[in-house]
Amino acid sequence: MNTVVLDETQVDIAAAILKNGGVVGIPTETVYGLAADALNGAAVAKIFQAKGRPMDNPLIVHIADFADIERFRLAKDIPAAAKQLAKAFWPGPLTMILRRTDAVPPEVSAGLDTVAIRFPNHPVAQAVIRAADTPLAAPSANLSGSPSPTTARHVLNDMDGRIDAVLDGGASAVGVESTVITLATDVPRVLRPGGVTVEMLRAVLGQVDVDDAVLHRLADGATAASPGMKYKHYAPKANVILLHGSDSAYIEYVNAHAADEVCALCCDEDLLQLHVKTVSLGRRNDYLTHAQHLFDCLRRIDNHPAIRTVYARLPSTEGVGLAVYNRLIRAAGFEVIDLETI
Ligand code: AMP
Ligand code: MG
Repeated sequence: MNTVVLDETQVDIAAAILKNGGVVGIPTETVYGLAADALNGAAVAKIFQAKGRPMDNPLIVHIADFADIERFRLAKDIPAAAKQLAKAFWPGPLTMILRRTDAVPPEVSAGLDTVAIRFPNHPVAQAVIRAADTPLAAPSANLSGSPSPTTARHVLNDMDGRIDAVLDGGASAVGVESTVITLATDVPRVLRPGGVTVEMLRAVLGQVDVDDAVLHRLADGATAASPGMKYKHYAPKANVILLHGSDSAYIEYVNAHAADEVCALCCDEDLLQLHVKTVSLGRRNDYLTHAQHLFDCLRRIDNHPAIRTVYARLPSTEGVGLAVYNRLIRAAGFEVIDLETI
C-alpha cells in the first residue's frame, strides 16, 4: 500500500480516511502528528503498529475547541487551572493531562487513568479535526526512537507504505513537541518542556513543578510520570556528545577532534571558525529558532552515513532553551563533557 500525499486543500479526503479508521500524517505547529480517530481503539492501535511504538506509551488527543473536552466526554473533574491555561495558551503547543472518562479507549491512555489533551494552533490540523468531527489521537509521525518530523517529507521518509496518507501543511513553526503539564497532581507539574515555557506557565498558575525526568536520567526501575520519558528518543544514528563551556572552548575542542566522521551541531557565529562538517541551529541566543531547526538538523546529519560523532553545545535551560536541552540531553544519552574541568 502506497502512502498518498495530500495538499492542504484536500482536508476532506484526510477526514474521510480518518472517519473510516485510517491513519493520516497531519501538520501541526509543533511537529507532524500521526492521527487516527481517538474514539476508535482499533484505529488507534494502527498508530502504534506504524510507529513501532511501545503500547505502554500513551497518546495525545487533539481537539479543535476547549468545549470538545466535554462534548466528547474525554475528561472529568476538570480543574479551574485547565480553563486558565486554555485561555492563556490554546490553541497552542501545550498538552494538559486530565482525569479521563470511559469514553477514552484504553489504547489511547495505555492503561493510565488520565488522558493528554491538546488544541493545536495550526489551521490545517484544526480543519481536519473539525471535518472528521472526532478528536484525533496523534503522537509524532516518526518511527519510534528517531527524530520527530517537522515536514511532510520527513513523515514520508519514515512512514511511506506504513500509513494511508500524509497531509502537507508546510514546515512546523515551533519544531519541538508540545509542553506536557499534568493537572492530575496537587501541584501542576511539567512532564515535558516545549514551546509554552515553564516561566509562562508560572505566570498564569503560580506554583508549577518540573519533573525530574525533564533534566535527568531516570533511575533504574523508577516509574516515569510521562511514560515517553523513559524511552531513548530523538537520537540520530551518530553518537551525540554534548560539550559544556565557553564559545571558544567549544570551537577549540571540536577543531582538536577534527576528522571526516565528525560533525558540529553549532550556531551561525561558529561556522567560519570550525574546521569540520557543520550543521547550524541558527543564531547563538535565538532559542526559538534552535527549537524550530533541531529535528531537521538531526535528520540532515542522519543523511550522511559517514558521520559517526556529533559535537553539540549544551543548550541553555532558559525559556524554550529547556525544550532543546531536554531533547539533546536524551539524544546524547545524558553524557556531557565539561570543558572547564578537562
Ligand atoms: P508524542 O505524542 O510522541 O509527542 O508523545 C506524547 C507524550 O505525552 C509522551 O511522552 C507520553 O508519554 C506523554 N503522555 C501522553 N499521555 C499521557 C498521560 N496520560 N500521562 C502522562 N504522560 C502522557
Ligand atoms: Mg514522539
